[in-house]
Amino acid sequence: MKKLVSIIIPAFNEEENLYAIVERIEKVFDCLDYYFEIIIVDDGSSDNTINYLKSEIKKKSYLFFIEFSRNFGHQAALMAGLNNATGDCVISLDADLQHPPEMFAQMLQKWEEGYEVVYTRRLSDPSLPLQKRKSSELFYKLLNSLSDVEIEAGTADFRLLDKVVVQNLNQFKEMDPFVRGLVKLVGFKQFAIDYVPAERFRGASKYSLAKMRKLALHGVTSLSIKPLHTAVYLGFFFSFLSLLYIPYILFAFYQGTEVSGWASLIMTVVFFGGLQLIILGFLGIYVGKMFMQAKKRPNYIIRSTNIK
Ligand code: UDP
Ligand code: MG
Repeated sequence: MKKLVSIIIPAFNEEENLYAIVERIEKVFDCLDYYFEIIIVDDGSSDNTINYLKSEIKKKSYLFFIEFSRNFGHQAALMAGLNNATGDCVISLDADLQHPPEMFAQMLQKWEEGYEVVYTRRLSDPSLPLQKRKSSELFYKLLNSLSDVEIEAGTADFRLLDKVVVQNLNQFKEMDPFVRGLVKLVGFKQFAIDYVPAERFRGASKYSLAKMRKLALHGVTSLSIKPLHTAVYLGFFFSFLSLLYIPYILFAFYQGTEVSGWASLIMTVVFFGGLQLIILGFLGIYVGKMFMQAKKRPNYIIRSTNIK
């Protein structure tokens, strides 16, 4: 029996790219023996995205949209797509054509071989600005050293998930899900495909440095409580160091030079002040997360959709 593939595309002000990506996907499926549906999640765009979608669904029976009531973020848009996809498998990709739809064939082949997750690894692209490449590198380093789930560098949200994985992801009732981490967390047989990303087709990146920083910190703190453990280790380390200070003080007393050392005193106070603030900050983030989770707010609000 012919299987159904759901394509999920989160879009935030991607009006100029949507025509092109839908066309490219149509072409790809012309040569594949699958039914497909495209779900475009309009993440509170302020451009003409929604009008385009509403006129286009009249012509294309396989096109669906979910319109958010405001910008809820890329991850929330992805989850909305997963929550509403009905396919035997689901492929998510960016709207800007950096993720080539021509790779679907290869991904579907791996899926047919029995892999429930086929994810992609972006090879470093020399045409990207250095700052973007470096911040991405740092993102994965930080993520992996501070959390319990190992996420390979360059794994963006371009992947194929089997229906069973999607069903499991939909069970997660967490506030602000970090989809990349959750996909690693659920397990299943996973296969990686390397690719060189294309250049953004039109428009500018919708991930500002501030949004990326937020995603990085969110990634770390939503996947583990490891950062809290650092407080304990640091505590032990400095307690031990302070013990070493005792013989020095005794020696200073013996020598009669114990009043000097103002500078080192201030240094220590400032250093520990900073350290305590960092640790308090981490504590604060987790308390804040519990606060938000306790409210049980939805991750997104839908204004309109043509999905029944
Ligand atoms: N995106 C979104 N909501 C946001 C920011 C981004 O839905 O608040 C979408 C965006 O439209 C694109 C994808 O997420 O389809 C990836 O964003 P982008 O290409 O701007 O990120 P980059 O490739 O520069 O990291
Ligand atoms: Mg992009």
